[in-house]
Formats: sequence, structure tokens, C-alpha cells
Amino acid sequence: MEIIKHWIGGSPAGSASATAPVFDPATGRIRARVVLGTAADVDAAVTRAAAAFETWSESSLTQRTQVMFAFRQLLVEHEEELARIISAEHGKTVDDARGEIVRGREVVEFACGLGDALKGSHSDQVSRGVDVHDFRRPLGVVAGITPFNFPAMVPLWMHPIAIATGNTFVLKPSERDPSAAGFVAGLYRRAGLPDGVFNVVHGGKEAVDAILAHPGIEAVSFVGSTPVAQYVHGAATSAGKRVQALGGAKNHAVVLPDADPEFAAGHITAGAYGSAGERCMAVSVAVAVGSAANGLVEALARRAREVKVGPGHVPGVEMGPLITEDARDRVERAVGTAAGQGATVVVDGRGLKPDGHPECADGFFTGPSLLDHVTPEMDAYRQELFGPVLAVVRVDTLDEAIDLINANPYGNGTALFTGSGEAARRFQRRVQVGMIGVNVPVPVPMSYYSFGGWKDSLIGDSPVHGPEGVRFYTRPKVVTTRWPRPARQDAAGFAFPTSA
Ligand code: NAD
Repeated sequence: MEIIKHWIGGSPAGSASATAPVFDPATGRIRARVVLGTAADVDAAVTRAAAAFETWSESSLTQRTQVMFAFRQLLVEHEEELARIISAEHGKTVDDARGEIVRGREVVEFACGLGDALKGSHSDQVSRGVDVHDFRRPLGVVAGITPFNFPAMVPLWMHPIAIATGNTFVLKPSERDPSAAGFVAGLYRRAGLPDGVFNVVHGGKEAVDAILAHPGIEAVSFVGSTPVAQYVHGAATSAGKRVQALGGAKNHAVVLPDADPEFAAGHITAGAYGSAGERCMAVSVAVAVGSAANGLVEALARRAREVKVGPGHVPGVEMGPLITEDARDRVERAVGTAAGQGATVVVDGRGLKPDGHPECADGFFTGPSLLDHVTPEMDAYRQELFGPVLAVVRVDTLDEAIDLINANPYGNGTALFTGSGEAARRFQRRVQVGMIGVNVPVPVPMSYYSFGGWKDSLIGDSPVHGPEGVRFYTRPKVVTTRWPRPARQDAAGFAFPTSA
């Protein structure tokens, strides 16, 4: 059985004393075991990262961006291999895994151009003979704690910017699909990144707690569920660290009567059931406004029944299994609870086994489910199910739809399907959500913008990547300079300095 080890100081590390199983969710079989990091493992990684920071933080911007260019090229060349590693442990289709690599690579591309983002400003002659300029310095050793659902992309939201700005990094990936992290570590090494700049410590709560408490870690980036985001934010800020903590979601797609129902239904279906609904930007609620409802539900039901479910490595499959047996059982229970609370189960995905794949009999599959007449009091509306369940809520007006979304505790993503510019403008100005799509169901921003929700979807105040990422991983220095001519020495005054 393969043992997946940490990556510390440029090589695999860690003893196999405590391990956790890593499953192939399509078959339900254990495919490897991952070592569970301890406080000693975290300390070893931080010690190597701190030593590497001494030289890496003094490297030139050109050297750092050249490493990023080489790393980007290796991500292109190894996309297929990495996609298959992700698919085998996560269960998503290989095509979908390629998509997350491409979106993560875009952050590397942003990091290749950091010379521009790191330019400071200069003010000439703010006082006689005095200039002011500013520049930004890296923080030191920073850590990333990431979820299972994007084992390549979410860490890539963090480490390229942290490293290109001169920090060194300790990644604690999800213990459920840990192999992508080690593969990426190998690519960095081949790209010329010095040993110790990028490190991986596997594990669960014990490793996370050691990161949150370690005095050598300056900042923590977290992405995962809201309760853990709140915990991480609280513990790390009280330990004096900078924290960005992204949480869970319940994303609404609103369909107005003037929208093309087939276009909306096609995109909402893909947004709801792609990656088996295990995306923080998955569409989990369709809000049908007025007369849009019946046609929309009919089109959604037809499409939900057509989704091709199977193992992620098989060409043509559109949706794979869930990550664990527990996740599958939780999602199937939620469909039953919704029916008991008065929702109409239009399409029931429970108990699905992929056709023609006897090897998947014990896999963690459930099919797409579509619930109609869901109300905000029902569990299926209130909870983040993180599975292939789409709930339809019917309302009378756009303003009612906006009020519904604003009353929801989450505020990650949302979308509006309409042909009206006025409605789109009203929606985007009033809705209390961080990322908004207009006729775009999954509005994940490009890497040169920042990614982050509002309310319980982002704890604290810092979104990730783009300009906010650069700000998060650096701190400014402002320098006030005077170079007096030897002949003209101004007298030093004791009053608080003002410009004149
Ligand atoms: P999770 O919160 O269970 O785990 C995230 C990380 O925290 C993992 O590395 C895990 O090992 C660690 N962890 C788990 N429980 C912990 C605990 N009690 N104490 C300390 N550390 C702990 O999340 P998940 O199930 O891996 O991922 C799914 C969740 O992530 C969903 O809620 C989803 O919405 C969210 N997510 C959010 C975004 C976003 O951008 N807002 C992106 C991706 C995923």
C-alpha cells in the first residue's frame, strides 16, 4: 500500500506511525494511506521554511518570476498526469480536474507578472529636498490549509502569490485527496524553486492546530467549511497571525421570466451537478421568478435525468461519485428529509449505481436530485448539502428573490438569468454576495481579480489571489528621504514634522 508522505525541505518526510486511508471514491476501495502530521512535523517544516526565507526573501524579483514561468510550463506539460491523480482520489471527471488545473494555473500566470503588482509609488519633493516612496516586503513563513474539493486549484490560489512575493510556504492539504500537493511540490523543485520554500504537511486537526499555534508562522490562508473557517480565524488571529478564511456557501441562481429557459436550465444543471455539486460555487438553489417556474422545472428535470454518472476517468462521464460514503449518505438523507418537510422530489438520485460499471458497486455514488417547492424553512434550503441536489424556490418578483438571497447567511456566489439590463443592474447593486454572474452560472473571477464571498462565506476581511492576495502576503514600508547638500544643513526642529 502506498504511503503518502509530507514534503519538507525538498524531499519526502514523515514516519508512517499514524495514517489515514485515502479512497478511490468510484470503487469505494482504499488506494493509499496518508501520514497524519504532528506538531513535530509542522515544526520541522516551519524550521526549513524559516531557513529558506533568509535567502528567498533576498532573491531578485526576476529570479522569483522566472521560477514561476518555469513552474507554469511544467503545469502545462503535466496537466494530464495531475488531472488523473485528482480524479482518482476526488472522484471528479478528468475533464473537470483539467479545468481546476487551468484555473489554478491562471494564478501562476498572475504571479509571473508580479513585477507590475509590486511596483511602489514615489512622491517627489513633498517638502523641500524630501521625497517619499513605498515598497512591500514579504511576511516570512506563511501557511495554507485547504479543502478536498479542489486539491490543486485552491492551494494554487495561495502559494504562487505567497512565493513570488518572497515568502516561504507550508501547505496542509485535505487528508482526503492529498496526492496533488506532493506532485505540485515536485514540479516546483524541477522549476528551480530552492528547497524549503514550498513544504507540505499532511494530516487533520492535529496538524492544523499546530499551524495555528506555531509562533514561526506569520499568516494563515484557509479555505473550507464555515465552522472550521471561524475556528481557524479565531485561533490564528488570537495567536497574532494575519488570516484569510473562506467558508461554505449556498449559491442562488435567479431566473426571470424574460430569460431563455433552455439556456438557463442548461447552465444551472451544469452548475448544480458538475463535480457532483462539491464546489463552493455550485448552484444549489434555483430561484424561479413568476411565470418562469413551470418551464424551468420541466427543463431542469429533463436535463437532470440525462446527466451521465460514472467513474471520473471514463470519457463522456459528466458526474462522478461523492468524496466519502458519509457524504453520500448525508446527501441522500437530506433528500428524504426534504420530501418529509413538504418539498416535491422531481428527480430522485438516491441509490443510483453507474450503468455498465460493476466495479463501482461499492462506490460513493448518488445521482442528481431535483427538489421543487422548497421553502427557506426547510433543511434542504438552510444547510450546505455539498452534493448533487438542486432546490427550486418559487417567488413572485426579482425584489423578493434579492431579499431571499440577502436573508441567507452565506454570500459566496450568485447568478441572474435575464434579458434585462435594468434587472441585472438592480440585482448586482442590491444583492449581498461577493461574486455575481449575469447569465453566467458559476462566476469564479479571473486570477487578476480577487476571489471571496460575503457574510458567512468569508470570515475576516481578506479575499484570495489577485490584488488582495498580493496585499495579504506582503506589508508596506514607507520611506521618507532627505539628501541634504553638504553646504545646506537644515536645522533639526523639535516640533512634529510638517512639510513646507
Ligand atoms: P473542511 O472544513 O472539513 O476542511 C478544510 C480543511 O480544514 C482541511 O484541510 C481539513 O483537514 C481541516 N479541518 C477539518 N476539520 C477541522 C477541524 N475541526 N479543526 C481543524 N482543521 C480541520 O472542508 P472540506 O469538507 O474539505 O471542504 C468543503 C467545504 O469547503 C465546503 O463547505 C465548501 O463550501 C468549502 N469551500 C469553500 C470555498 C470558498 O472559496 N469559499 C472553496 C472551496 C471549498
